[in-house]
Amino acid sequence: VSEFRSTRDVPDLVLRGRVVTSGTLLGDGIVAISGQRIVWVGRADDAPRASWPAAQTVGSTLLPGLIDIHCHGGAGGTFSDGSGTESRAAAHHHLAHGTTGLVASLVTADESAMITALSASADLVDDGVIIGIHLEGPFLSPARCGAQDPAHMRQPDPLMLDRLLDAGRGYVVSMTYAGELAGAGKMVERLTASGVVPSLGHTDATFASASSSLSAAAASAPTGRASVTHLFNGMRPFHHRDPGPGAASLRAARRGEAVVELVADGAHLADATVATVLELVGPPSVALVTDAMAAAGRPDGRYRLGGRTVDVVGAVARLTSAGEQPGALAGGTSRLIDIVRRCVQLAGVDLADAVEAASSTPARLLGVDRDRGMLAAGRRADVLAVDDDLVPVAVWKDGVLLDQIA
Ligand SMILES: [Zn+2]
Repeated sequence: VSEFRSTRDVPDLVLRGRVVTSGTLLGDGIVAISGQRIVWVGRADDAPRASWPAAQTVGSTLLPGLIDIHCHGGAGGTFSDGSGTESRAAAHHHLAHGTTGLVASLVTADESAMITALSASADLVDDGVIIGIHLEGPFLSPARCGAQDPAHMRQPDPLMLDRLLDAGRGYVVSMTYAGELAGAGKMVERLTASGVVPSLGHTDATFASASSSLSAAAASAPTGRASVTHLFNGMRPFHHRDPGPGAASLRAARRGEAVVELVADGAHLADATVATVLELVGPPSVALVTDAMAAAGRPDGRYRLGGRTVDVVGAVARLTSAGEQPGALAGGTSRLIDIVRRCVQLAGVDLADAVEAASSTPARLLGVDRDRGMLAAGRRADVLAVDDDLVPVAVWKDGVLLDQIA
């Protein structure tokens, strides 16, 4: 899997178990860590361990720390309207369940609220709590608003975009946009010039419009790929006579021009849909995401999301509805390992494929794959140990064991 880098790299922690990384599975593997870095990964039989400390077995399977590129919050708080304490608690909750690379998603709101949330989230990046910021709007289609507030949606506005990116201090890594809006093309250019991955979503685009927007975005995107925000959710639905953005996204993903996010929690997508997409485009083009809101790790009840109220019933979050119609889905309540588990246990996805879509694929999309998203020599020692049911047992971040799974 990876080479022994140097005989001087004597590890201070040696973990042994089933090892899953980069789409492969080692039945009996070793992950050796020195300080904050992984120094060796491979089959236990091949490990040069004469002078190494004794290997520890923790849980049954070692996974790379997971990377969630679409997450609004957890543990009662959101990044859009939580205090600093609440935002840190949200990030810690996901970390304690194995998400060592978290991107904070900010919902569409009025500009001053978004700027406040951007500034607060940038502080979290400075402190190493999260790895970046995702803007979900405000240049979205009111026709496909989902839980995003249509009252605050705007036509693309370059000056407003500059103000938002400035407030993010260079830490905005992706932005959801509706490709059919007037001026969307110029906005994509501005985003990619700033190193931001454009993510098509909350869109009512036709197939042709979505296709050309994704192609243009991929051509200039920092890592050569556009993103698609929660494929099939918040977009004109796939129809065989009106294939829309869903078909355009699948085709771009199959060509390696886009990575499609899937909220594979059983509420946003049927398990068979998840399995179908993974089989059609492959795990290198799929990013599993939680889209988690405040109720992740909390019981059913009433929560806030960017100034709107959300009722969580049976772990499914919907906008509070006064009428008989249920409100729109308003984010998820899972942690990323829960999504991986569901993919494996209910959608029948290979464990190595599900883990790839929750670690190395999102890392590659954001251009941080030399540092994160894989159990391989040279990467950060971000490791998640799980049991046979894929329940987290221990998490290491930068080689440091989190003392408690909360
Ligand atoms: Zn979202």
